[in-house]
Amino acid sequence: MTMVEGSPENSRRDGRGEERVGKADVHIHSIASDGTASAAQILDYVERHTDLDVIAIADHERIEAAFECQRMAIERGSRIHVAVAEEVTTRSGHVLGVFLQARLRRRQRLETTVAEIHEQGGLAIVPHPFSAFTLGLRKSAIMRVQLSTDPLVYWDALEGYNPSTAGRFGRAATARIAAQLGLPLVGNSDAHTLDTIGDGHTLFPGSTAEDYRRAVLTGSTGGACITWGAVKEVMIYGQQVRKQARDVSRWGRRYLLRDDAPRDLGVPPEQLALQRECESRYLEEREHRRRATAWSDGPKTDAVAQARSRPSGERSLAHRLLKARPGTRARSMAADAGRREAEEPPA
Ligand SMILES: [Zn+2]
Ligand SMILES: [Zn+2]
Repeated sequence: MTMVEGSPENSRRDGRGEERVGKADVHIHSIASDGTASAAQILDYVERHTDLDVIAIADHERIEAAFECQRMAIERGSRIHVAVAEEVTTRSGHVLGVFLQARLRRRQRLETTVAEIHEQGGLAIVPHPFSAFTLGLRKSAIMRVQLSTDPLVYWDALEGYNPSTAGRFGRAATARIAAQLGLPLVGNSDAHTLDTIGDGHTLFPGSTAEDYRRAVLTGSTGGACITWGAVKEVMIYGQQVRKQARDVSRWGRRYLLRDDAPRDLGVPPEQLALQRECESRYLEEREHRRRATAWSDGPKTDAVAQARSRPSGERSLAHRLLKARPGTRARSMAADAGRREAEEPPA
């Protein structure tokens, strides 16, 4: 296995005057999509077996496990800072949104998704650029966003350190295009199993999620990754297949035998209900803001200013989730949530 590395351009000092370089991996898949571990198992593993400071679960088209992981980290006072992310499929390929407040809709125009990530106060990152087999964005799509005149449509970073074979093939080209466009490189594992978490990571000055965010915005990130190689990827794939088989059998039981086994997202039903309540409240507030800004002169510039001045989603939603106690609405939604999950086919 080879190691590729780049260091952050500057670094801050911690309380003892020592330089502190943080490690982040914000592209981890859980059982809620095609990963093999739950949010709880991921957080436990990261705490016990890695020196990562910042993580995010970034499931395909899903955000529930990401919120749950963040909630658990805050509740237990974990040393790990957890952000909320999603790897969403656009009509041009995969996009990674980090520091999100609500689930992104799939199969939208690439520009629409990137604008929505920024409107939520998030970072828009290109995961595994150019990898044809895993729906990586092509150069033309990356350039379309880069050249957009819409102030909400721009890239924050490219994922230049990704341990997969697909990531390895695109690595040199990604570094070239990042230098050309003046975009920072980040590293992530794209892990689908516990033991591969952290195999790709970003290095940044500081140690918190906010430090990570600042480093991306100021272009002071570095990164590193190993390369898995074919044998490792076959082993990862084997674990994924076993997990998918469990999902399909649950789904089949539900439909064929009318068994009441909901799809396992690794999130308790009452937490799912609270998430949905908070998410819909956020979306209502956003709609309200949109309508209000439509009356003023510069709707887009207002949205940009708001997005940039707002602290990341790290606090807001998770804190609301912690404070919230299941009310009548939440209790009635809890049952619904389980039912709805069961109806969605496995990822
Ligand atoms: Zn992907
Ligand atoms: Zn991924």
